[in-house]
Amino acid sequence: MDNELIAIPARRGKAAHLKRGQKVKVINTHGQQVVDTWAFCADDLKEFMSMEHSRTFMERIIPQVGDKLVTNKRRPILTLAEDTSPGIHDTLLAACDRYRYELLNAGGYHDNCTDNLVSAMKALGLAPPEIPSPLNLYMNIPLADGRNLTFEAPVSKPGDYVLFHAEMDCIVAFSACPQDIVPINGVDLNPTEAHFAIIA
Ligand SMILES: [Zn+2]
Repeated sequence: MDNELIAIPARRGKAAHLKRGQKVKVINTHGQQVVDTWAFCADDLKEFMSMEHSRTFMERIIPQVGDKLVTNKRRPILTLAEDTSPGIHDTLLAACDRYRYELLNAGGYHDNCTDNLVSAMKALGLAPPEIPSPLNLYMNIPLADGRNLTFEAPVSKPGDYVLFHAEMDCIVAFSACPQDIVPINGVDLNPTEAHFAIIA
């Protein structure tokens, strides 16, 4: 049993190995932080959790407790086992990247989830073969009139968590999204740390 809390530092990423049958709890420590989440098959990083394939498999755009997230080979990789938040997450938006911030006129280099994924995997001696669309935990992107998107603050509370069950050996990676121009990490535009714990 290993319930040690691992920090996802503010504006940074962190990755870890997860064995089939283990669980990972992803905690919104301060309540208003989006956590971009990826999972790659341990045997073959070119197979990874895919939002496009998961939406087909789930027949919805936001996973609910009991839903399985699947890979680009349509194999279950994570099951959403618990969710103490109001259940608002996003599967539609790509990870933020340098180009997103250039378009937002951030000025100079801006931390971003894409680079955070690469850094987090590098710390394990790994490199992602591409940047899959992440499961954006706690991200609140309402779909209005069946077609229009808005960028809203999370509706989660401090300490809310989601718990995933690993369906295969995988690498999970998280980024505490550094978005501080659009209020997806709360209206005070102050990205914070989050935490995760691996449960044997
Ligand atoms: Zn981001």
